[in-house]
Amino acid sequence: MRVLVVEDEALLSEQLASALGEAGYAVDCAANGERADFLGQTERYDAVVLDIGLPRIDGLTVLRRWRDAGVAVPVLMLTARGSWSEKVQGIDGGADDYVAKPFRIEEVLARLRALIRRSSGQITPDLRCGGLVLDPRVARVTIDGIAVKLTSHEFRVLSYLMHQQGRVVSQAELTEHIYAQSADRDSNTVEVFIARLRRKLGGSYIETVRGLGYRVEAVP
Ligand code: CA
Repeated sequence: MRVLVVEDEALLSEQLASALGEAGYAVDCAANGERADFLGQTERYDAVVLDIGLPRIDGLTVLRRWRDAGVAVPVLMLTARGSWSEKVQGIDGGADDYVAKPFRIEEVLARLRALIRRSSGQITPDLRCGGLVLDPRVARVTIDGIAVKLTSHEFRVLSYLMHQQGRVVSQAELTEHIYAQSADRDSNTVEVFIARLRRKLGGSYIETVRGLGYRVEAVP
């Protein structure tokens, strides 16, 4: 899963990016509204953390532009403490949730997980396919209760497929959701990650749909 962090305070942006990275997400950062507007309209994110007070273009305007352009990504707004009007404007402007500053990073992570879960139609906090369980709260994968050690890219591939359970996901779509913008993208590497995942997971959790992509069956 891939997340965009829009925050002009460098330290806060770094803290968010590093916490999200540790939690298994590919992360892009934007430090002003103009850059955020551009990235949101050209890249594919699974969620966005959007500060309201931003240089050049404020967060509410960025959000309005995205929604006007049909960008449906879940957005978590960062609002000033005690500013009820920012919260109302944010929600009315198309934000899905908000966190007031100052906040605990853990709360931002929990709200993001919930947004991503809901937007992909998942109900439970952990994602299951038979004995295979992926828990986004601790970025952990188990099979029949036994932990499976994955690299961060393998985890992102599996996490994306499991959030899209039952749907065929193309190699191009996977590529868009597992790499940060700065990363060297090569869609062939997706095949490599899938092959490694199959080796580590065993069984037939990841199905290849010829000419279309990959699918994790929607098995309870
Ligand atoms: Ca700010």
